[in-house]
Amino acid sequence: MPRCPSCNKLMTHSTQENVRLNTCPGCFGIWIEKIALNRLARTPAPPPADGSPEQSLQELAEIVVESNTKGRLHCPVCPVDLVKDRYHPLIPVEVDRCPKCAAVWLDVGELPLLRRLFAELQSSTDPQVMALRDKVANTALAMEQMHQRTRDLQDINTGTGPLGFGGYGSLGAGSSPEANAVGITMDVLINLLTR
Ligand SMILES: [Zn+2]
Ligand SMILES: [Zn+2]
Repeated sequence: MPRCPSCNKLMTHSTQENVRLNTCPGCFGIWIEKIALNRLARTPAPPPADGSPEQSLQELAEIVVESNTKGRLHCPVCPVDLVKDRYHPLIPVEVDRCPKCAAVWLDVGELPLLRRLFAELQSSTDPQVMALRDKVANTALAMEQMHQRTRDLQDINTGTGPLGFGGYGSLGAGSSPEANAVGITMDVLINLLTR
């Protein structure tokens, strides 16, 4: 069982919506495979089981601003440091990912915020949000076409391709600098989604 990269406690297995992950009993952060995170982030979270009101986007964001690890963390599995990366060009949540095993460390509150922002971004009919979505999708498409041309030219038959920190589904985008340039700040995003 891996230890927490943040507080070094032994993590425990758990599941959320049938997705397996590791939770730290000390700081309540989450250690999760990239593929599992991509799936979970795109699944809207169920309402609180105890009937209490859902936290607002602003409240969720405040928890994350507070909990986000500033220092460099070490992968609990591989002998490398974790890399700080925005999870998605439109979602200003910085996560720590391992460049070797591709697992991701999420400080407490980051997963609920990711899930909420994905849901809000996908359902928003605000023209500015829709324009941003299009921009990310078009950038992703252009990047994919470029990668495809590169693959055709080089006749690479590995089938793995240039894996970005992505799999962004219907929101599009990859982890290229071009796609990340579409990124906006948390304040701007929350303003767009809550007005
Ligand atoms: Zn911890
Ligand atoms: Zn690793």
